[in-house]
Amino acid sequence: METKLLIVDDTPENLDVLRQVLSPLDCKILVANSGERSLDIIARNQPDLVLLDVMMPGMDGFEVCRRIRANESTAETPVIFVTARQDDIAQGFAVGGNDYITKPISMEEVQSRVRHQLERVRLIRELKTLNEELEEKVRERTAKLAIANRQLREEVNERRFMQDRLRYLAEHDFVTRVYNRNALDAHVTEVIDGVQRKSAEAVYLQIDIDQFRLVNESCGCIAGDELLKEVGEMLGHCLSEQDFLARLGGDKFAIVAGKHNRASGLALANLIQQQANNFAFVWEGREFKLALTIALVVVDKDVSSFEQLLLMADEVMYLAKKEGRSTVRVYDEDTLRQTSHRSNVNWALRLVDALNQDHFCIHVQRLSRIRAPGENLPAKLKLEALVRLRDTSGSLMFPDSFIPAAERFNLISQIDRWMIKRVVQILAQHPECHDEIEHIAINLSAISIRERDLGAYIERTLAQYKVPGHLIAFEITETENIVNLEETRQFIRDVKNLGCQFALDDFGSGYASFNYLRELPFDQVKIDGVFIRDIDKIETNISMVKSIVEIAQKLNVSVVAEFVENNRIHTLLDELGVDWGQGYHYHRPEELTNESLKRMIKQVA
Ligand code: C2E
Ligand code: CA
Ligand code: CA
Repeated sequence: METKLLIVDDTPENLDVLRQVLSPLDCKILVANSGERSLDIIARNQPDLVLLDVMMPGMDGFEVCRRIRANESTAETPVIFVTARQDDIAQGFAVGGNDYITKPISMEEVQSRVRHQLERVRLIRELKTLNEELEEKVRERTAKLAIANRQLREEVNERRFMQDRLRYLAEHDFVTRVYNRNALDAHVTEVIDGVQRKSAEAVYLQIDIDQFRLVNESCGCIAGDELLKEVGEMLGHCLSEQDFLARLGGDKFAIVAGKHNRASGLALANLIQQQANNFAFVWEGREFKLALTIALVVVDKDVSSFEQLLLMADEVMYLAKKEGRSTVRVYDEDTLRQTSHRSNVNWALRLVDALNQDHFCIHVQRLSRIRAPGENLPAKLKLEALVRLRDTSGSLMFPDSFIPAAERFNLISQIDRWMIKRVVQILAQHPECHDEIEHIAINLSAISIRERDLGAYIERTLAQYKVPGHLIAFEITETENIVNLEETRQFIRDVKNLGCQFALDDFGSGYASFNYLRELPFDQVKIDGVFIRDIDKIETNISMVKSIVEIAQKLNVSVVAEFVENNRIHTLLDELGVDWGQGYHYHRPEELTNESLKRMIKQVA
């Protein structure tokens, strides 16, 4: 844009002289011969600089300058007064002049003062533009920052919500909303620690509901759940703040009563019995009186672990029930005498014999895909191996009857190793089937995993029979707590390096399920069958499965539902996004033999 100068003077000769003097500056020169006219021209042309004569008839230069300053659009326009009188200078600045030139004028002075003012205006404008650009940038940045901040806040909130939810799910029982077995384990471990350091005393109460099975079987599991909920509430009302209430699973509750000794613990147990006597469970017009059996163990220096405490409580509970239900019984010398060795010894011997004489055998159950995977992969056979014991009379015994004893007597790891070896041997006998098999999953007790050389055993066995690792998967069953997360993680990583996959079994049954899922590199999670079997009847089970699917997807773990017993459940699981199903609806476990393996492969293909 070209620069415009306005010269204002009532004497035509002066105008001519100034015009000439300024002509080398390469500006457009406008002229006005009176104050009034000059305001007109200024309003229309917005000159970049005004050279203003002071003495003019009509409106003088000072008045013109005042008006220039008063007008918003020209307030910044530089004005240089041209005057013959020195005493005008002060007033010239007072009305807003920027500079002055005295007559008679010198050409160089005029040029340099004008140049100076023009340069000043230019710089001011530039600065203004820069400032505006800067402000715009700051505005943009601030806006972007605000958006980013909001997103961050939302993410933080979401994560916090997920974490809270994970923590809640990891510590609470789904049905009763009281603490679960895992949280109880953590709490008891802390209490034992306090007792060992003599800074605490506590009493452990284990409570069984005697009618639970009756209610559950005659009125259905919705009634069973409701009973559990009501009992949980009733127990909660009997407790004070330092007491800890948990559901152990099934019909079993546990209370760790802080600051209690044997006598006050007994008083608490009796209070609970009293409340139970006043309590009736009503379902569809039918009334059930409640009876509880309570086992009491004083947590003293002889108690060194949660597992031991549970065993002690089990022993008292067993005796209490033998004596007749609805009682309170305390763990003492008497208990010790009566229970040690009991029928367990027989079991231990039978298991040792079975191991030596190969009385175990393997049944398998096929898993079925509910949802198709992303790619159109060919269907392959996926099995879970289940151990069976053929007793001397030839009848089959199921793991529920011998695994608890095997775990107590540390024989479970030998059974697990026997299973690993047998499954690998069978796979080795059928190399022609390897392409059709996804894998055979073997259950591992948490006790087996604690043995440091299990990984090496698996590696050795696979190498010895030349069976690729990807044909084997392992399911970590939650019948026992995983004690050392770090070692377990290392074990899983090592065995995954051999190609094997890992599933977290019996998910939701009360151990530290969500924690394990987050902390350990599982490929798959198997939802405990108790949540699936009645899923079409129990609303909370649906929400539980939903949460599991949601979290599993976030962790990139596939989901298996156990105990799928009919097509209704299958359809529901499909809607809930469960990937695999296992259960009598698809396949009843059968013995793994050469023939059964080939037949199952044909059925899948
Ligand atoms: P699991 O790993 O949860 O195995 C599933 C159990 O549910 C099996 O019982 C199976 O026969 C049963 N089942 C399958 N489909 C259905 C169904 O639709 N409805 C119902 N009601 N039940 C179904 P099983 O064979 O008696 O095994 C019981 C548990 O014993 C297993 O539970 C597992 O924890 C453990 N187990 C089995 N074999 C081994 C083993 O070799 N080593 C270890 N450590 N544990 C094992
Ligand atoms: Ca399993
Ligand atoms: Ca299971």
